[in-house]
Amino acid sequence: MRKDNLKSLVTQMYEELLSNIDEQEEPNKDEVINYLKDAVVSISKIDDGAIDSIEHAKLAFTNAYKEIAHQSISSYKDTNSKFEELSKLHKTAVNECKDKDGLIDIPSITSKFDEIQSHMMKEVARANEVITKLTQQVKELEESSKLDSLTKVFNRKALDSYLQDICEKGKLKHELHLLILDIDDFKQINDKYGHVVGDKVLIFLANILRKTLRDGDKIFRYGGEEFVIILNRIDADRCQDIAKRIVKIIGANKLLYKGDTINITVSIGATTYHEGDTPDALIARADKALYKSKNNGKNQMNVEYIDGN
Ligand code: GH3
Ligand code: MG
Ligand code: MG
Repeated sequence: MRKDNLKSLVTQMYEELLSNIDEQEEPNKDEVINYLKDAVVSISKIDDGAIDSIEHAKLAFTNAYKEIAHQSISSYKDTNSKFEELSKLHKTAVNECKDKDGLIDIPSITSKFDEIQSHMMKEVARANEVITKLTQQVKELEESSKLDSLTKVFNRKALDSYLQDICEKGKLKHELHLLILDIDDFKQINDKYGHVVGDKVLIFLANILRKTLRDGDKIFRYGGEEFVIILNRIDADRCQDIAKRIVKIIGANKLLYKGDTINITVSIGATTYHEGDTPDALIARADKALYKSKNNGKNQMNVEYIDGN
């Protein structure tokens, strides 16, 4: 499937969903959720190999997210308007509970307020229930979309199935290279600035990778602060050039946080796929190269090829 086809498919689904919502006086949450589930299933049925760009998957995913946000907002709006009604009720109750001389009848106002309080609690519980369900939906979407929820690059599950497919093919038409990238001293960043900033650094790094790499290259979040990059249709020399460029670009970019400049560097291990490789063997080779980079002082790339060079 081509990029344009996928785009128009997603746009069509999105418009269909919006018109469905418009037709309903009160949008039915379950219907929207089911629609989204179906949409995700149909998108995931599209041949993965044909989707070369992360942007495609991202686009589909963003639209699904939009709908969930839409539902979440309407649920809150609903709760808010109920609260407005209740605060009007408050005023009426106070007025009703004044006797003819303008004095407040304490027992009856207490019972009115108890009633209002219990209405409010029910509303809050209802809103929480909706939000919990929506959170679960987001989680399911993330899992089925194969995207990492934080960085929006492909996740580990997507990498596993991608490598499995490649290794099952055996001989490939083009060369394929795998890079493992690990942030240097990331623990220190977390310790110094906190986990939330650490998360921002991961997003920042993923964005740099997206901007630096070509559309056909693939980026996966392999683990906490480790990413895997797949480069296609280039030779080993070019792959090394790209790995060096990534190291350089990341080292040169700075993330500003509350007046502080956060510098990050990365170490990379690179290898080339060979017929007969298993996913584990391929990763282990790249890992060995990464280990060399870390051992030699970090902020660099190294390679490990099958003949030991
Ligand atoms: P090295 O240069 O040897 O790679 O050192 P390092 O500190 O990067 O490596 P280490 O394995 O000691 O620490 C990795 C840290 O990454 C520890 C963990 O708290 C952090 N980390 C893992 N996943 C996440 C995440 O999702 N968010 C944040 N903020 N931190 C994470
Ligand atoms: Mg690590
Ligand atoms: Mg690290």
